Amino acid sequence: VTRAGDCVFCGIAGGELEASIVLEDDVALVFMDLNPITPGHTLVVPWAHAASLAELPSKAGGHLFGVAMRVAAAVRASGLRADGVNLFLADGEAAGQEVFHVHLHVIPRFAGDGLEIRHAASSPGRGALDEAARAIRAGLAAQKETM
Ligand SMILES: [Zn+2]
Repeated sequence: VTRAGDCVFCGIAGGELEASIVLEDDVALVFMDLNPITPGHTLVVPWAHAASLAELPSKAGGHLFGVAMRVAAAVRASGLRADGVNLFLADGEAAGQEVFHVHLHVIPRFAGDGLEIRHAASSPGRGALDEAARAIRAGLAAQKETM
């Protein structure tokens, strides 16, 4: 397992830092967020240090999502308030990433919980949508076969 010395999640993975563990398997561990948005807010974290999605093997990313689905179902069955669930992953500082070790948030949701995802509505039109799709297709074509 690769790790980074000053990484708080590597510290939890290594047992040097305290955490309230929910689940551990070969790829990931799940523990309670220290500053939960709502009660039951957990983080799904790979054991191996990966600062960003670009450093995370695709297979591991898929595994994290599967674990998050299990945790989401468990939260809904737990008695904690969860009328809905958000899965949220921040990749990069501009996206709100604060700990640079990939983590997938599982956030129980209910009406009036205070979490808002604000956005400005836009209607770019077909030409702009097609142009963006073309740019992303070019990015896909440039990826390594291993992705
Ligand atoms: Zn780490």
